[in-house]
Amino acid sequence: MLTVLSAKPNIMILATGGTIAGQASSANATTGYKAGALGVDVLLKAVPELKNIANISTEQIANIDSSNMNDEIWLKLAKKVNQLMNNGNIDGIVITHGTDTMEETAYFLNLVTKGSKPVVLVGAMRPATATSADGPKNLYNAVALAGSKNALNRGVMVAMNDKIYAARDVTKTHTLNVETFKASNAGEIGYIVDGKAIFNHTVTKEHTRNTPFDVSSIISLPKVDIIYTYSNDGSQVASEAFVKAGAKGLVVAGSGAGSIHENSKNYLIKLLKEKKILVVKSSRVGSGLVPISKEELNQGFISANDLNPQKARVLLMLALTKTKDPRQIAKYFEYY
Ligand code: ASP
Repeated sequence: MLTVLSAKPNIMILATGGTIAGQASSANATTGYKAGALGVDVLLKAVPELKNIANISTEQIANIDSSNMNDEIWLKLAKKVNQLMNNGNIDGIVITHGTDTMEETAYFLNLVTKGSKPVVLVGAMRPATATSADGPKNLYNAVALAGSKNALNRGVMVAMNDKIYAARDVTKTHTLNVETFKASNAGEIGYIVDGKAIFNHTVTKEHTRNTPFDVSSIISLPKVDIIYTYSNDGSQVASEAFVKAGAKGLVVAGSGAGSIHENSKNYLIKLLKEKKILVVKSSRVGSGLVPISKEELNQGFISANDLNPQKARVLLMLALTKTKDPRQIAKYFEYY
């Protein structure tokens, strides 16, 4: 009988730093270390089993603590991923990344990369030098997921602590624990066991090829900032400063179902009317939809739907590359 051996997938790992590449002074240290200290080759050496499941190539895109992520690296990553989408020798893409802003980068790429190949972001909560570092297993899982035929057409994903999350839904919820990522509104879409990706849910929001956002000829993104509401809210000062510094849009991390203290709201209404600044209402609560009243719609406010403030910011930035019409942008918040 003839046995056909299936070829190993070709996976490109794009490294950007983070705790997965972090180095501490002792194996006990899980804080106070330097994120983005080790090169991608060192990460690969810790997981020799990878060569059994994939042919790996690597590129170091950056080596930073992801709390310092910026538009320049986002655009570089997006352009690189789009090149790889069109490269017939690559089957899947893994991006190593710090966990602090992983959800933002994942959602950005989910909206601007065009193709069906799996794109998987992965990181770690413990530095590479720690006892029971979580990076090696997470990296193994991410490569297995990126090489899985089951993972095609699911948009950008995050693989952390044996679970698979859709980029739009995932958020970091714990400062230090390895079980930090959650998708409070939607749940994880699957999980990974011994290198096998098992999916339980499909991704329903549009992504990748089905969005209108194209950064291929963009060299900078519109400035959008986030303000936060609270008792005795003084964030008008922040709104004023952001607009003065060139913000074209503001996202409000509202209280409860997106409420904004009147101290701040009255000023935002003025900005909407007089300066045509786009204002998206989101919530600081962590899950759930932000409703919007008829009056607010007429004033020009846009609902973030159930996106958290940092993700609403990503979508508003991209929306502003297309239009300044709040009604059209409100549609984007429904679809993506
Ligand atoms: N501060 C680190 C980073 O985001 C945390 C991590 O990777 O877990 O790069």
